[in-house]
Amino acid sequence: MRRPTVILRRCETYDVAQIRGIVSDALERLDLRPHGRTLVKPNCVASGRYFPHAHTRVEFLEGVFLALKDRATGEMTELALGERSGITMPTRYAFSGAAYYPMAERLGLTVHHFDETSQVEIKLTHPERLRDSIYVPEPVARADFFVNCPKFKAHPWTTVTFSMKNYIGIQDDRHRLIDHDHRLHEKVRDLQHVLQPRLVAIDAITAGEGRMLTPKPFHLGLVILGDNQLAVDSVSCAILGIDPLTVEHLRLAFESGFGPVDLAAIDVVGDISLADAQKRAHGFEKGLIRVEDYFQGSNIRAYAGPPPADGGHDYCWGGCPGAIEEAIEILRMYDASTDAKMPPVHVVFGAYEGEIPAKDGERVVFIGDCTTWKGDLHGKSVQIASTYVDRSKKNPLEAERPDIFGKMISTEKLLWKARKEDIIRMTGCPVSVAEHVLALVKLGGLKNPYFDPREIFGFTSAYLSSRTRNAIARLFGRAYNVPGFDGRGDASLMPFEEREI
Ligand code: SF4
Repeated sequence: MRRPTVILRRCETYDVAQIRGIVSDALERLDLRPHGRTLVKPNCVASGRYFPHAHTRVEFLEGVFLALKDRATGEMTELALGERSGITMPTRYAFSGAAYYPMAERLGLTVHHFDETSQVEIKLTHPERLRDSIYVPEPVARADFFVNCPKFKAHPWTTVTFSMKNYIGIQDDRHRLIDHDHRLHEKVRDLQHVLQPRLVAIDAITAGEGRMLTPKPFHLGLVILGDNQLAVDSVSCAILGIDPLTVEHLRLAFESGFGPVDLAAIDVVGDISLADAQKRAHGFEKGLIRVEDYFQGSNIRAYAGPPPADGGHDYCWGGCPGAIEEAIEILRMYDASTDAKMPPVHVVFGAYEGEIPAKDGERVVFIGDCTTWKGDLHGKSVQIASTYVDRSKKNPLEAERPDIFGKMISTEKLLWKARKEDIIRMTGCPVSVAEHVLALVKLGGLKNPYFDPREIFGFTSAYLSSRTRNAIARLFGRAYNVPGFDGRGDASLMPFEEREI
């Protein structure tokens, strides 16, 4: 079996021709020829004027697609772009903000919006799985040559987001939100069993530091490529001085045999050394910050107890606490006076047992199904009980598709009913970033980003287009369990140790 190779290449600007050359070289070196249904998945969680550094840049993708065309055999039946952007945001809107459509048209690509495609069931058999099957879009399940093109970013919930974490975008909202909680890392590990990419190409030219949705641009000037994504992610961690085994989903993938994390087991090649890449990354701000620390110095005071005991975690890194951090970052992008406008608010997560020193008139919001608390608030005895539903009772086939306008109405109703209350309960597991945004808008009297006059037309039109297409597809029978889909079988679906490389 050949050792995994990770290729580090200098690339100072988003020059399509240069990126094409870099990716062509990598395909040649790795002896890869795109064939059959070739699918490229970027990270396009968000885009546009407010999220310019959250996604894989279009010039980068164009270089990748051109290189794939250059190296394709006559047997390439489809060259496609596919992704599911951030939850509740239509992928059409994110693709439009990232300027993907003109590129797709120029290159004759098929475009798959994973929130509008059929979903198929993939059976899972590994002993440590969270559930027995997982649903993914049909184009993912049927891909013969899958290319993962993430953005090099920090992540406040998972430290980093490189290629393995990019798999969260291969599920539509209904399925993505299931297990997106304290066991998120295990979910990311389980998604690895759906398929493995033939090629990983990370856009690390302008990396994103600090955050995931609203990162600060950090010039790294690198393209990172490889044929084993755990090896690629491990080298990416090494560039930032992070031990990959401290990133839980990488450790879990390693334990499941998806590849090496030890640099001694990886051939790191290219036109820049790992040491020089590390120098470039000096000072890069990584993720992972607890909610209590994140809100230090602001008018929001946060308190977090442990999530439910399954999994043995003392903090919910994949759910509500991280979602509120992203929510406030979004609001700050839209309204610079967000922090000044926000009145003192206390937010509570998990089984919290400490004090909540809320003064008279200060509101306390208990967030998430698993939240519990008992004590006195504003002279009253308060008891908050858990409404958490165990994951074994959550059926993916019954999961609802979250709708942003529906969320607006329900959040408006909740806060209207509680307008005279100083104790508010928000349920959900997880309570999504969008719901946190909407709740903070009401609590702080802030600008609602969904009504931003520069965005509302494009957003609503993408939303309506997506909803209409889904309604028509449902009418004509598009659903789960596509006829003719007979499960996995391609070598790219196998864990590392079972693949013949
Ligand atoms: S309710 Fe929120 S904090 Fe609790 S387990 Fe679910 S996602 Fe985590």
